[in-house]
Order: sequence, then structure tokens, then C-alpha cells
Amino acid sequence: MAKLLLGKEVNLALQERIRSKAALLQGAGILPTLAILRVGERPDDLSYEKGAKKRMETLGIGCENIVFPADVSQEKLMAAVEELNRDERIHGVLMLRPLPGHLDERLVCGALLPEKDVDAQTDASLTGVFTGNGVGFAPCTAQACMEILDHYGIDCTGRHAVVVGRSLIVGKPAAMLLLQKNATVTVCHTRTADLAAVTRRADILLAAAGRPGIIGAEHVSAGQTVIDVGIHVGADGKLCGDVDFDAVSPIVGAITPVPGGVGSVTTSVLADHVAEAALRMYRGRGSLIYM
Ligand code: NAP
Repeated sequence: MAKLLLGKEVNLALQERIRSKAALLQGAGILPTLAILRVGERPDDLSYEKGAKKRMETLGIGCENIVFPADVSQEKLMAAVEELNRDERIHGVLMLRPLPGHLDERLVCGALLPEKDVDAQTDASLTGVFTGNGVGFAPCTAQACMEILDHYGIDCTGRHAVVVGRSLIVGKPAAMLLLQKNATVTVCHTRTADLAAVTRRADILLAAAGRPGIIGAEHVSAGQTVIDVGIHVGADGKLCGDVDFDAVSPIVGAITPVPGGVGSVTTSVLADHVAEAALRMYRGRGSLIYM
């Protein structure tokens, strides 16, 4: 049976890091603070916002919710982002996406200062992930995968990492972060021929396809580390991932469960990014990508 890579263990270590940054800032009279910008009342957004606020507060990070009706104008939303850019009390901004169709998401995200972009929503932050020397932060989910590998001492150097999924928010940045850890990286997508043949050759397999149970016994081999980014509500109403856990866990060496794996680390990474953004502002820098 595979070793379980548990989010709660990674969180304990991350919480130490966050609390020590928050304590340092509080000594200087600064409360590291996140602003969550929400447009409309989508149940997914409401539930994420509630969970994130609770986690921030537990970790000594302030959290303010800024809410607009679903029919807010582009101008009004852009003005709010610019106001948050100027607000010295706010160190990180997270805009819940997708935005309603009448809004130009790229334009709104682009208005955010990269220094306050704690989840790589701006092109400047994403550029930093690819070049390794930009401003801003890596996307929290991709970073959460790296935190799990680091915490469990899984060395990527010279290993073959296979990422299933090439979205801009998970697959591509995760591939870049693995490359920075000196893995040899293959990225798979819907046009990949014989996915199972590729994934079986991985040392580290990161599943971010957004398809429940797409990684089965035929996709894995003994000794692999499997990181499951997927989050879905299964037919039985329970949470499940992109990996068929029951089929895969008896074969591989280590695996993240769903729930209790990547998803549970993502919000802690968000809190860490807010604390780090505040520290950078306090120290008057802001030119290094934090990964
Ligand atoms: P996405 O934008 O839908 O992208 C999915 C990617 O997977 C695409 O690149 C797609 O390829 C590829 N793909 C889909 N089906 C495939 C298949 N059968 N074989 C090979 N590749 C396939 O999804 P996302 O936003 O990256 O999210 C991925 C998963 O992560 C979702 O389950 C989401 O819920 C989860 N997620 C988790 C967290 C967290 O905190 N844990 C955060 C964000 C997202 P093409 O490019 O060819 O279409």
C-alpha cells in the first residue's frame, strides 16, 4: 500500500512558517491582509471565500471580503482593483474566477499590481513562474504540489515528472516548478497519444486533468509518487480526485488522498503568499518571485 502524502502534515509545517512571518510583521504593527474580491453569489465562490477567510484568521492573516453584484460594470470593478492596489493595509488580492461573461477577466486581472497578486492572476506573475525572476507569486495550487514534495523529501532532480493537464493555472505552472526542481518534465493533454504508456514511465505523476478517476491502475507503476490535483464530487456525493485511489494506491509508492491532499494545502500556501507579500512590502523589496 502506498505511503499517504497528507496535506495536514504539510500544513503543520507551513503554519509554522506563516505564523513566524505574521508575528514578525505584527511586531512592526502590520497585519498581513488578504482582500477577496467576489462578483455575484456563485455557491462555489461563497464556499471558497468562507473556507479561505476562516483559514486566514486561524493563521494570523487578516481577510476582507469585497463583493459586487453579478451585473457590476467593468469600470467599477477595475476601479476597485486600482483602489486595492493603493490600499497599504492590503498585501494580497484574490479575485474569484470565472467572472460573469460581460466582464473582461484578462483586463481586470491585468489591473492588479503583481506585488499583490498572491495567486498568479496577472501575466506578470505567470511570466515570473516561467522565467524564475519576475514579481509576484506562483499559483497556489501548483505551489501546494511542490510544498508536498518538499515536505516529504521527494527529490525531483533527474527524475521523470509527468504532468497530466496543461491549463495556465495548474498544469503549465506545475510543469515549470518541477523543471526548476531539476525534474525532466513531460506534459500530457487531450491529444497525447497513449496516455497510459507515458504516465507509467513517470517517477512523479501529477494529475491535473479535471476528469474524475481518469488515472487508473493501467496508468501507473510500482514506486511512483502520485500527486492528485483533481477535486470532484463523485456520483456517491463524496469528494474524489483525478486518480482512482482504490485502484492506484496498492501499486504506487506514495500518493496524495482526495480529500486531505493538495486541496487542503492550497489555502495555507495562499496565506503564506499574503504573509510573504507583506514582508516584501515591509522590507521595501518586491522584485523576487517567491516559489
Ligand atoms: P482545466 O482548465 O479543465 O484543464 C484540464 C487540462 O487537462 C487540460 O489541459 C486538458 O487538456 C487536460 N485533460 C483533460 N482531459 C484529459 C484526458 N482525458 N487526457 C489527458 N489530458 C486531459 O482544469 P484545471 O483548472 O487545470 O484544473 C484541473 C483539476 O484541478 C480540476 O479537477 C480542478 O478541480 C482541480 N483544481 C484543484 C485545485 C486545488 O486547490 N486542489 C485548484 C484548482 C484546480 P487540453 O488542454 O488538451 O484540453
